[in-house]
Amino acid sequence: MPVSTSTTHPATLFDVVTAFEEVYPPSWAASWDAVGLVCGDPEQPVEKILFAVDPVDAVVDEALTRGADLIITHHPLMLRGVTSVAANTPKGRIVHRLIRSGVALYTAHTNADTASPGVSDALARAVGLTGQLRPLDPDTTDPEGRRGIGRVGELPAPLLLRDFADQVAQGLPATAAGIRVAGDPDRQIRTVAVSGGAGDSLLDAARAAEVDVYVTSDLRHHPASEFVERPGAPALIDTAHFASEWPWLADGASHLGDVLGRSVGPNGANVEIHVSTTVTDAWSQTFQHV
Ligand SMILES: [Zn+2]
Repeated sequence: MPVSTSTTHPATLFDVVTAFEEVYPPSWAASWDAVGLVCGDPEQPVEKILFAVDPVDAVVDEALTRGADLIITHHPLMLRGVTSVAANTPKGRIVHRLIRSGVALYTAHTNADTASPGVSDALARAVGLTGQLRPLDPDTTDPEGRRGIGRVGELPAPLLLRDFADQVAQGLPATAAGIRVAGDPDRQIRTVAVSGGAGDSLLDAARAAEVDVYVTSDLRHHPASEFVERPGAPALIDTAHFASEWPWLADGASHLGDVLGRSVGPNGANVEIHVSTTVTDAWSQTFQHV
């Protein structure tokens, strides 16, 4: 492979952000979203990157332990406007910790959701969909029709809902809440819709797609109950929000590594990229009546 001779300096934050935005352009993000660089100096060198779902204290701890100088998260730290980042506020404390330690923070949220491959492609692969995937809610601005929210695909062979649910649980990281299933456990599953993160808004799209099951997160009682009560409706599998988006981290890391290797040459290839193993789902314990 040709080696670039023009860059003998370490990769900078600017280099990394430029490479990452080649794969996940910020312009693909929803208008309400807040993606991009949250803190960090574009001129600072980057040698170690940590991918994580949430920009929370436990992830900053992990970044410091690993010696990372950049954290790339799926969820934004600050989605709405703020007038203070004082260290006695939860988000301000994170900003202070990051800046004091020289660690940059970058966010790719709905632009990573809609990308192809994006967050739901990684989820689809994690739960066992092996063939072609199409968007559940296509991005109408994409002339090729590949981008969009959620994905629809097929299992290589039919499974009973109970067995597919087990496959979903095994394919995703373990969380305290595990997964919840609505529908006949003996129902045959072949076509599957998935949407990483909160997927309430795509229940109608999943029904219209005539899939056998819809896998997503954060479903509420009434929409879920009304959905499965309809004759012929798909079954539902509700996962921990963190778990449905975590599979994308390895994808994002791999795409970034590829582009950096091309654009920054040997220095880019030398940037270490790690995927966080910290479980940051909001629900950390469950109890059952026995
Ligand atoms: Zn999310």
